[in-house]
Amino acid sequence: MSLTLDLTSAESRAAYRPAFSQKPSLVGMSRDEMANALGAAGVPERQRRMRVQQLWHWLYVRGVADFDEMRNVSKDLRAALATQFTIARPEIVEEQISNDGTRKWLLRFPPRGAGRPVEIETVYIPEEGRGTLCISSQVGCTLTCSFCHTGTQKLVRNLTSEEILAQLLIARDRLGDFPERDTPAGAIVPSEGRKVTNIVMMGMGEPLYNFEEVKKALLIAADGDGLSLSKRRITLSTSGLVPEIYRTGEEIGVMLAISLHAVRDDLRDMLVPINKKYPLKELMDACRAYPGLSNARRITFEYVMLRDVNDSLEDAKELVRLLRGIPAKINLIPFNPWPGSNYQCSEWETIEAFADYVNRAGYASPIRTPRGRDILAACGQLKSESERMRKSDRLALEAMMIAGHGED
Ligand code: SAH
Ligand code: SF4
Repeated sequence: MSLTLDLTSAESRAAYRPAFSQKPSLVGMSRDEMANALGAAGVPERQRRMRVQQLWHWLYVRGVADFDEMRNVSKDLRAALATQFTIARPEIVEEQISNDGTRKWLLRFPPRGAGRPVEIETVYIPEEGRGTLCISSQVGCTLTCSFCHTGTQKLVRNLTSEEILAQLLIARDRLGDFPERDTPAGAIVPSEGRKVTNIVMMGMGEPLYNFEEVKKALLIAADGDGLSLSKRRITLSTSGLVPEIYRTGEEIGVMLAISLHAVRDDLRDMLVPINKKYPLKELMDACRAYPGLSNARRITFEYVMLRDVNDSLEDAKELVRLLRGIPAKINLIPFNPWPGSNYQCSEWETIEAFADYVNRAGYASPIRTPRGRDILAACGQLKSESERMRKSDRLALEAMMIAGHGED
């Protein structure tokens, strides 16, 4: 049985619904921006670096969401900061826990400028020895990959670096991943035993169409004095924006995943339409040039298995040919159905035969076990509340899954 917690209930409302605030957040600012913010709050220039260091520690090592918890910051400064800035978490509208332990949060962010509040989903996937948080970068998506549920939702807006990081901070709050929040100021904080060990930019949206904010957030997530996630444990997935792939390698340096899904331009033009702008040859050149590749640092190629569309042995052969010379791992993703989708998941034997061929050619080719399908948390199933499924659609989806379209 999956479990849904309505976090808008009275008790949790008090704990998790922050006062609506249009004040800028200190979360997601670079150190320079934070130093300027401190200047605006009256901190003399010579103190700013030290203060930034203190705040950084409280925000990202301790995970505090209230200035009053910053015990080694003077009361006056805390008050001055609180009048101009916020560090409150955004609202959690709903938390769902799948029968396989996957968790999904529906988060609501306040309007930016003249816009409306927006909602996005974040998914946590626990596995043996690791826990991966799947983070969204946009509300909706401008791209229209034909097998993707998010692709049917128009882009509403880009998320800010604060909103991208808030997904990680909230997951760590809810999973008890900030145990040191109550340890004394200055104590050494262990970084072992975390629940969130990896993050993947594989939620809603195309991260490379929101390059600057994604870059800022990921560099903060990787900052050794704060959240301290190794760049090898951060993976950015893109449908193939070639110029920004080069920039990702140079400016962010995290692991790369490519939503490949087809090995011929004519088919990829249909499945992943950005291919018309950046065809396979250019995409593969950008992959080959990605800095730091080795057998220990491979590019992940995601390949959704669509029955009779891209799942033949010919496709597998062409895939091997295409990837030649690139340290690569191929993630075979059984297609996750959604109401209105025009595809079906490949037969299990077909997926295995495909995987075998690629594997024999020397590439790791794990078949990704669909996780959290019962709470619509699996790849390509994320959408925001404004577009949440009608009950009839949800029932239709359940019926499709029971009918056995690539079951778990
Ligand atoms: N926009 C980025 C990040 C999203 S990652 C990108 O496309 O790479 C989500 C992954 O799930 C992508 O590889 C996407 O192609 C895949 N996906 C989308 N819809 C899916 C579905 N219905 N079933 C299985 N995988 C899907
Ligand atoms: Fe957007 Fe990625 Fe879905 Fe394509 S697969 S529509 S790029 S979220």
